Amino acid sequence: MKRSAALLLLAFTVLAAPPVGAGAQQQKDYLSAVEADKIRDAETVNERIKLFLTFADDRLKKFQYELEHPSSNRHGDMLNSLLNAYVGCVDDAADLIQLGLEKQDNIRQGIDLMTSRTKEFLVVLEKLSTKEMKSCRPNTSMVPGGGPLFQRMFTRLGCDGRPPRFRVEFYPYSSLVLTIRRREEVVYVRFSDLLQRAPRAVLEGAAALLLARVYRRKASRELTEPYLEYARSNRTRGRMNRMRRGRVRLAATNPRGEHFDLDGLFDQLNGKYFAGQLQRPHIGWSTRSWRRQFGCYDPGPNQILLNRRMDRPGVPACAVEYVLFHEMLHVKHPTRRSGCSMVSHSREFREEEKRFAEFERARRILDRLAR
Ligand SMILES: [Zn+2]
Repeated sequence: MKRSAALLLLAFTVLAAPPVGAGAQQQKDYLSAVEADKIRDAETVNERIKLFLTFADDRLKKFQYELEHPSSNRHGDMLNSLLNAYVGCVDDAADLIQLGLEKQDNIRQGIDLMTSRTKEFLVVLEKLSTKEMKSCRPNTSMVPGGGPLFQRMFTRLGCDGRPPRFRVEFYPYSSLVLTIRRREEVVYVRFSDLLQRAPRAVLEGAAALLLARVYRRKASRELTEPYLEYARSNRTRGRMNRMRRGRVRLAATNPRGEHFDLDGLFDQLNGKYFAGQLQRPHIGWSTRSWRRQFGCYDPGPNQILLNRRMDRPGVPACAVEYVLFHEMLHVKHPTRRSGCSMVSHSREFREEEKRFAEFERARRILDRLAR
């Protein structure tokens, strides 16, 4: 039988450092000419951030209007492009903030505005029911010059045989995923649309990685590094989290278990260890028991889940509190990059964790529970 299809999923866990040369100006099809001018003419970064957020707000309002008053033709397209424009504007504001932080500019105002506006945006987005969101088809688009790019990489890596035809598109995955599928003479490639604004070298790196796997070649570091570097960057991670917020549905959970009420515990811990300052994420018990971990925090949907297994009478409260406290520290200390690896439990994290009143006891109980 002929080997007709090969599917390869490469989901790179994203690590973090701004890509070199990523700042290249790209045309933004989601801004009008007038808007683009305003951005260009703005005198300060804060001003620019404010403009982007205003435009984001505008797109979101139009999106809602379109939902309530569907235009007779092109309803789906309208929704898609408005939502994309919204995401683009928020991304741009976030990029400016990230850059500002790196350059140590004074962007306090911009950050405050970003915080308050995105909170409002989230309220709107969360109100949209899944049914409404479903009327947005996955928005795919061809990667400009994608075919020739793959052909070039095919030759460069010295893959065997005549190069196939490549169809390369951006696809709205909820994380940084690349897929490649071979069908007869055509190779179908999908890049996460998180790469939509990536520089060419990044796309080439992604292509080299995929082809090397499928055709069993070795791709040089020099080729793949721009992609890996991009994937690890803080900016990409931030973008991914914002995107996941819109795309990943929250696991249906209830903070009120049979024995422990996590909302109540959160308030208690927040008051005791965070001066009441930690923003409340979504919190819940996992729907099923997990074997390996006691809790997790996912920055995408901004959600803490605790293992349902702990919601029973034999488990001392301090163990549950400790796990929740640990996940709350993840909310406070976002995962960041150090050298080449991700630091989830930084030194500061570990130090702060020891402030938990019954630290040693809670750890011993968990050790026992884990057996
Ligand atoms: Zn942890």
